[in-house]
Amino acid sequence: MEFRLIDRIRERTALAREDVRLGIGDDAAVLAVPPGQHLAVAIDTLVEGVHFPHGTSPRDIGWKALAVNLSDLAAMGATPAWALLALTLPRADPAYVDDLAEGFAQLAREHGVALVGGDTTHGPLCLSVAVHGFVPPGQALDRGGARVGDVVFVTGSLGGAAGGLRLVQGKVPFDPADESHRALRTRLDRPTPRVRTGMALRGHANACIDVSDGLLADLGHVCAASGVGAELDLDALPLSPALRGVFGNAAARELALSGGDDYELCFTVAPASVGAMHAALAEVGGHATRIGLITEGHGVRAIGGAPLAGARSGWDHFHP
Ligand code: ADP
Ligand code: MG
Repeated sequence: MEFRLIDRIRERTALAREDVRLGIGDDAAVLAVPPGQHLAVAIDTLVEGVHFPHGTSPRDIGWKALAVNLSDLAAMGATPAWALLALTLPRADPAYVDDLAEGFAQLAREHGVALVGGDTTHGPLCLSVAVHGFVPPGQALDRGGARVGDVVFVTGSLGGAAGGLRLVQGKVPFDPADESHRALRTRLDRPTPRVRTGMALRGHANACIDVSDGLLADLGHVCAASGVGAELDLDALPLSPALRGVFGNAAARELALSGGDDYELCFTVAPASVGAMHAALAEVGGHATRIGLITEGHGVRAIGGAPLAGARSGWDHFHP
């Protein structure tokens, strides 16, 4: 394909890893999986106007395309290593590609991820990123391990990205001079994958998922996979001051329950392991808030209340 564009991407994302025996430039990359490790792999696609608003800066798009994938590895407790980037571009604009690659590289450097290959084609703006990471055998944090009595936690804060999207959509007009508005836009455009927290949760969490479709939907997936229910303490949901300030408490809570794109980790821990979990997170500068309990039954409820996962929980691309 467009070799000069590929060269620009390669230059901007260059990162030496001993396990990359052959990177960008040949027919396929050749990679050495460390002995005794299992490979965790994931892929996610970002389409302009669907997964990020028209007008999002190329740096933010490049960042987010990698971030949503690293979030999937984080949710498995995997250590990220390599990425592939399939890039579809409406035009061969070198400055635009430089910015995309720079945004991608910024986050890749932070986590030591090498871009080892990809594909570049012409069409409507779209990025597919595949990531590969390592996890010790038997230690992946899957969705199916939650047990009755486990405590439910979530990292960071919820609803901020959905709040940012509302500002972009003009329901409350975006004011670039407003610090809270800018903070919510950043939550939407530059999600922080909880990579180190995910790795620190190995051996502590019974089940884990990243919150990409909204807390109700994603905790609902954990419940379904584990054959359990969950009850949430709605007063305990971590809401950022910016979200509460701009939308008020009631709407902020609604966004935290049903809004997507936060890329926090939601996980369950046996009561006896809660202390050790907090200590392990503190070692990597992580933090999690207790938001509920795993119960018998199925579905997600408010404490003492009716099922929360009603008609609308999370985003379904085919039934928006
Ligand atoms: P092929 O025809 O063998 O698929 P390409 O011209 O598609 O070769 O790609 C040439 C090299 O550049 C390959 O090593 C490929 O992995 C890499 N590459 C292509 N596009 C990208 C991209 N967007 N990001 C990273 N590497 C890329
Ligand atoms: Mg190709």
